[in-house]
Amino acid sequence: MAKYSAARPWLQTEAFWLLVYVVLVVGPLALLLLGERPRPGGFVWDFALALGYASLSMMGLQFALTARFKRATAPFGIDLIYYFHRHLASIATALLVVHALVLLLRYPDVVGRIDPRTAPGYMTAGWVALMAFLLLVASSLWRRLLRIEYDRWRRLHVVLAVVGLAAALWHVLGSASYLEPRWKYLLWLGLGVFWLGLVAYVRLVRPAWLLRRPWKVVEVRPERGRSWTVAVEPEQGPGLDYEAGQFAWLSLRASPFALREHPFSIASAPSRPGRLEFTIKELGDFTRTIGSIQPGERAWVDGPYGNFGVRRFPQSPGFVFMAGGVGIAPVISVLRDLADRGEQRSLWLFYGNRDVERIVFREELEQLASRLNLRVVHVLGEPPEGWQGERGFITAGVLNRHLPSDRDRLQYFVCGPEPMIRLCERSLRQLGISLKRLHSEIFDIA
Ligand SMILES: Cc1cc2nc3c(=O)[nH]c(=O)nc-3n(C[C@H](O)[C@H](O)[C@H](O)COP(=O)(O)OP(=O)(O)OC[C@H]3O[C@@H](n4cnc5c(N)ncnc54)[C@H](O)[C@@H]3O)c2cc1C
Repeated sequence: MAKYSAARPWLQTEAFWLLVYVVLVVGPLALLLLGERPRPGGFVWDFALALGYASLSMMGLQFALTARFKRATAPFGIDLIYYFHRHLASIATALLVVHALVLLLRYPDVVGRIDPRTAPGYMTAGWVALMAFLLLVASSLWRRLLRIEYDRWRRLHVVLAVVGLAAALWHVLGSASYLEPRWKYLLWLGLGVFWLGLVAYVRLVRPAWLLRRPWKVVEVRPERGRSWTVAVEPEQGPGLDYEAGQFAWLSLRASPFALREHPFSIASAPSRPGRLEFTIKELGDFTRTIGSIQPGERAWVDGPYGNFGVRRFPQSPGFVFMAGGVGIAPVISVLRDLADRGEQRSLWLFYGNRDVERIVFREELEQLASRLNLRVVHVLGEPPEGWQGERGFITAGVLNRHLPSDRDRLQYFVCGPEPMIRLCERSLRQLGISLKRLHSEIFDIA
């Protein structure tokens, strides 16, 4: 984020991190081709083994993608990283399936027996890895269809990923194909230790670090639209150094080790440091319990993350925000911050809700409109009788009616569920606005 932009700006670019990814997948694989090739040799054999190694590298790096390294995730945004994570897992598993099928069909003698009672341990480990990765991908792609509750799915996900990776490593190091001379073996052993080290960092080291920095709930207040604002303060120390529009993973009534943290935008403004506020809509198992949280209860905050702020665009003549329901949370943070800083530029907020009563921060938005050069356009799905404002969704027509003719110079921010983000993308395209000017925060990364 802003912190990294001044020094070493290349660390801020997507191209640099994509290159790092490609080098980490392809590099160790390319090194295997140096020197003598193992028997039986030939293109199909080399190809099948390369698929297996590439799959293992990709699976190992999946742990890096979800390790929440701020520098590496900042240029993309965490939602995009999780999107990559999901698709790369499917690709890596597909490579593994092809690896196994080609070897099984073309070199059945080399593969040998599948029965674990007679097969060597490292071969059985290969089959275990394949099963674990297939289960992992299937349970992620069809989690809702299979009715697996999110927190349970996350625990299953971690177990399958660790079992799959450990078994795949055992298989590779045990079969030792292409791992002569010794340095190649040590290289892959080192990579394995690195990947498993990432798991230990994410699941043990970082939670332990968070455990030593507890927060406490200081207020829980109801908001419109079945939402609650939870305010927390650090038990010691100065709190979080964040930018308006960022988010954090919040754990309530669960230790940071419990894998029961949830991502929420920070709705408060950094211009008022110390206290953090999250505005949370009752939606499912966890969020429905928010109203019962009591001041004084412990909380843990892992953050800040995300790239939804306006401060990256000091030259922009103005900003347009589009929010749906509780998607207002990061936007209110930005607006509060801009108001506290005496912002003069033109701002527009297109805010979609089902009806008037569900408009979270309705009164505060009116106040902010009087402090800022802000025009708030409410778009209601079920407007009351006599409603003069916009109705339906935030479409190109709605934007067209309220934005100035030089709209292609503005920066656009959209926050809400995925279908809303897609609709906003379509609308901007219809208005001839480059999608490079659109910055989105999707409230669903699972
Ligand atoms: C970057 C980001 C910022 C967000 N900010 C806000 C906010 O400010 N206010 C708000 O009300 N909501 C926000 N959300 C959505 C919020 O995280 C989910 O609504 C919440 O986690 C649902 O949990 P649940 O157990 O109540 O619901 P469930 O019914 O169990 O889950 C509903 C859906 O929410 C998603 N989800 C559940 N748990 C998690 C989790 N631990 N991590 C990621 N996704 C999960 C899953 O897709 C799930 O299917 C944000 C989400 C993201 C990704």
